[in-house]
Amino acid sequence: MENTKDTIIIGIDIQNGFANKSQGGSLASEKAESIVPHIRDFFKKMLGRAYIFFTQDWHPKNRYYSIKEGEIFPEHCIAGTWDAEIVEQLQEFVTKENVVKKETFGYLEWKEYLTSKVDMTKIKRIIVVGFASNICVISNLLRLRAEFPDIEIVFRYDLSSGTTEFAHQAAIEIAKSCLIEVEEGD
Ligand SMILES: [Zn+2]
Repeated sequence: MENTKDTIIIGIDIQNGFANKSQGGSLASEKAESIVPHIRDFFKKMLGRAYIFFTQDWHPKNRYYSIKEGEIFPEHCIAGTWDAEIVEQLQEFVTKENVVKKETFGYLEWKEYLTSKVDMTKIKRIIVVGFASNICVISNLLRLRAEFPDIEIVFRYDLSSGTTEFAHQAAIEIAKSCLIEVEEGD
């Protein structure tokens, strides 16, 4: 059935550091944590129709304070720590083959990476969910938009949250203005 899949779903930074507030994720919010079960339901529903990939914010500790993030955010998602792990509720979807690590907001090689994993001529849409909408999600949406000009790029904003509600709404507006489809679930 593999060749019937026409969709790619990318979960952005759904890691303890951003989405596990109750156990002490360093930049996690209650809002993000509350969305994780809905992401899980969506992944389950889509499993037969979509390829699922993840990004993992991943900061080698010795470099953290030399990058711009280190000037602004507290330490988070340090390489190899619990904070950097994708949340437990989504581990069933994680394989060794479907996670990209990134040291900054946007992953830089979507086209090369996805083309190496999937027959992109069969793909009609790429759906993006995850955290935070106004930082890493929008960064990756804009990169995907640029790298795949002929594929529908979709932002499921109900399966995402921002650093503030205002910032989340701003991310939605920017996505719309860059011809990214902005959708919510049924
Ligand atoms: Zn980071």
